[in-house]
Amino acid sequence: MRVGVPRETYPGETRVAMTPGAVASLEKAGIDVVVERDAGSAAGFPDDAFADKGAALGSRDDAFGADVVLQVRTLGANLDAGRADLERFGRGQVVIGFSNPLQNPEAARELAPTGVTSFSIELMPRITRAQSMDGLSSQATVAGYRAVLMAAESLPKMFPMLTTAAGTIAPARVLVVGAGVAGLQAIATARRLGAVVEAYDVRPAVKEQVQSLGAKFVELELETGEAEGAGGYAKEMDEEFLRRQRELMARVVAASDAVITTAQVQGKKAPMIVTAEMVRGMQKGSVIIDLAAEQGGNCELSRPDEEVVEHGVRILGPTNLPAAAPFHASQMYAKNLANFLALLVKDGELVIDLEDEIVDGTLVTRDGRVVCSRVLEALGEPVAAAEAAEA
Ligand code: NAD
Repeated sequence: MRVGVPRETYPGETRVAMTPGAVASLEKAGIDVVVERDAGSAAGFPDDAFADKGAALGSRDDAFGADVVLQVRTLGANLDAGRADLERFGRGQVVIGFSNPLQNPEAARELAPTGVTSFSIELMPRITRAQSMDGLSSQATVAGYRAVLMAAESLPKMFPMLTTAAGTIAPARVLVVGAGVAGLQAIATARRLGAVVEAYDVRPAVKEQVQSLGAKFVELELETGEAEGAGGYAKEMDEEFLRRQRELMARVVAASDAVITTAQVQGKKAPMIVTAEMVRGMQKGSVIIDLAAEQGGNCELSRPDEEVVEHGVRILGPTNLPAAAPFHASQMYAKNLANFLALLVKDGELVIDLEDEIVDGTLVTRDGRVVCSRVLEALGEPVAAAEAAEA
């Protein structure tokens, strides 16, 4: 069993799918690892460090020639540069990585004819057993942390309250909208920097978590009802709910120096929560960091990876914040993948056990076809026919 780790080719991607530490655990389990030269340099893992832990160093073809290819971004999450690797895949080979399967399902259709068996980390089911393999969560932790640093850098104020001989400085007020994994880490980071933090989420269950981090939960007079759907993900709220939410949140947004939005509903366009009018109600110099910019944005004015200035308010929509802390982002991601591999490899052999909810849930293509019902649905293809063929 040989695992290959190519260098990432998505513009600005600095992460790597394996780290020397995780390589050591794979080698111990009898799995050989071949790493493309320079694959880890941008994340702070030089070739020597991989070699010291027993990995072989090789070319891109060597890495893609392995039984299992581990990537941060497979084709669906690297649409342009990723196509160059399509010809490197062969039948029966396995590829594991992020692939944006519900946003870019066409990529799965493009990948399928290579015969590759592909697994998408975004489709990891939210069950306790899968937590250690959940790459979305590990990377969201990094994004939440970096979002606060970005806000702190962009704000013309400091975050902590200071009592000095030159006067007293009031603490910055930070609002976090969406208190999932990224949001909770943003709250914790903003608190550590000394800000006064408020947070809101449609899932009432998070109120306690928000408070335990020392932030105030924003109570809105809104009937959230069954806001939590399968696996702890938020359900899509209707337009009337979102209209009321915006109305009630306008006052809190206006009083905030920095607003960090992380609200998402898996597989759907992000809910629009901060309107242009709400931005105009903010103090000049305030900052919005919209972590949902790639999914359509929580702020009406945000643009992916651009800085928009409106009414003196800076609005940033970073789409790849984990790449800003690639060492630890890669470390956690590599651990996620090593745990996932442990599920697929039994006694040195690949065993794709579709009875296992984690394996079945993340499998996207196999034997030349797209086999994941959620991806087929996103493609508008009949799911039942595909399932019958599978059986
Ligand atoms: P996410 O990235 O899908 O969404 C971010 C947050 O936005 C969520 O908390 C969601 O409720 C919120 N949101 C959606 N619409 C909103 C709106 N209109 N206004 C305000 N907030 C809105 O979520 P996530 O960070 O991946 O995590 C969601 C939950 O799942 C968390 O409780 C997390 O702990 C849990 N989780 C469980 C597992 C597991 O059991 N294996 C793994 C990962 C996450």
